[in-house]
Amino acid sequence: MRKPGDARAVEAMTLRLFNTLTGQLDALEPADGKALRMYACGPTVYDYGHIGNFRTFLQIDILRRFLRLTGTPVRHVMNITDVDDKIIRNSAEAGVSIGEYTARYVEAFFEDLEALRIERPEQIARATEHIPQMASLVEKLARAGAAYKAEDGSWYFRLKAFPEYGKLSKKDLSGMEDGARVDVDEYEKDSARDFALWKAAKPGETSWETAIGQGRPGWHIECSAMAMEYLGESFDLHCGGEDLMFPHHENEIAQSETATHKPFARHWMHVRFLLVDGRKMSKSEGNFYTPRDLLLKGYKASAIRLALISVPYRRPFNFTFDSLTDATNAIDRLRTFQARLKAGKFAAGESKEMQEAAAEARIKYDNALGNDLNTAEALAAIFELARAANTAMDQGQFFASDRDAILPVLRDFDAVFDVIEDRDAEPARRAMAWAEQAGRMGDVAPELKAAQSLGDEAIEALVAERTTAKQARNFARADEIRKELAEKGVVLEDSKDGVRWKRK
Ligand code: AMP
Ligand code: ZN
Repeated sequence: MRKPGDARAVEAMTLRLFNTLTGQLDALEPADGKALRMYACGPTVYDYGHIGNFRTFLQIDILRRFLRLTGTPVRHVMNITDVDDKIIRNSAEAGVSIGEYTARYVEAFFEDLEALRIERPEQIARATEHIPQMASLVEKLARAGAAYKAEDGSWYFRLKAFPEYGKLSKKDLSGMEDGARVDVDEYEKDSARDFALWKAAKPGETSWETAIGQGRPGWHIECSAMAMEYLGESFDLHCGGEDLMFPHHENEIAQSETATHKPFARHWMHVRFLLVDGRKMSKSEGNFYTPRDLLLKGYKASAIRLALISVPYRRPFNFTFDSLTDATNAIDRLRTFQARLKAGKFAAGESKEMQEAAAEARIKYDNALGNDLNTAEALAAIFELARAANTAMDQGQFFASDRDAILPVLRDFDAVFDVIEDRDAEPARRAMAWAEQAGRMGDVAPELKAAQSLGDEAIEALVAERTTAKQARNFARADEIRKELAEKGVVLEDSKDGVRWKRK
């Protein structure tokens, strides 16, 4: 914990993060003293991701950005599941190869990451590019007596070979039947079963020829094999959404630790669900929105980002459109505040209150994020500072050194939250281009269509023309321009520091 008066070294922070495995807040530090090695379960690319999926990826983005802000480099690996039951079924229905089928969704996923300003992990690992590693892990388990081959050529993990099974999800497995099997990847049964490591080829399905036979990997073995390929047999942190805790992560632990006799990941982070009307947002429930859906409705990418990160990761978050509106307003306030600081002319000197407010905000911000990534409290600290500074500016009690104390706090805020810097035009433009291709122009909000028809340069030109008209006291023309811009969804703000414009 940092206290007022501590040196202004954010680097001294240690992140305390809830660890599902130990059931408590544990310090998260690199075991090798250098970089934090982390693995995050990535998307299954059978369709577009929804904002529930992106809540998880965004919270992991907050984690990695905070680690870096506090001086810990990260080595972050994320897989892409580009072969599974659904992908095989859908690609067969579409009459294309699985590679062709998934390509579009992989591309869309990266585009969505970029729109939401989610940093790319250091390593992306596609399942279909690591088949030999998976097969050799199955062989290793077979040699250890922990994997067996069924009559059809599929391989299963023998749960009885791993007595610690259930240690992550704390499930009671006393009623477990030896030899009972399950061959689907996702199951929600309370009683565990031997699970598929490798599925024998079925006629017409994509498969690979390997040392353990012709077939394709199960979902769980993917993550074990790729995590160990890039991070070693033991690493610092494994993350994913709460639904992955059982069986997926439990199975990853069983496979990996049986093969290596070493702890797999020391720390496990699970992001709680994004809900809609109290139920998990999911494809199968049909209650989902993709980032594209929301961009087309006219919400800014930054607002989607802020809405999804402002509720801390360990609280379930019931999604509403009000949360997007609140995020939009919050971002407007922060952008206006930063612009005011940057453009304002302040007398030399400092005010004691402002200096203290800046120092206090920074400490509250660091402590909030350092305490299990409490984004809500971190955000509150920044707003408190903005309110105090705005009041001081209104009262003429704000000086150049106050600005110099506050701007770095905002910079550290945006190093993690990344919403103040306005880069919202590009995601909106891309979403429109996509809508056109996907035949979804009917879903595009009218303001977005209008705003998109005016490029930034055209807007700048009109704003400049209006300023000239006003200087020439041609107020009729100036008003006309303001009206024209408003119709196209562009609002102007006159201030003593000049005119600012923004898209509605
Ligand atoms: P998938 O593409 O289904 O494999 O999911 C990708 C990631 O999104 C996983 O970490 C899931 O746990 C996570 N996820 C799926 N649905 C939700 C949700 N409603 N809220 C938060 N995370 C989710
Ligand atoms: Zn995984």
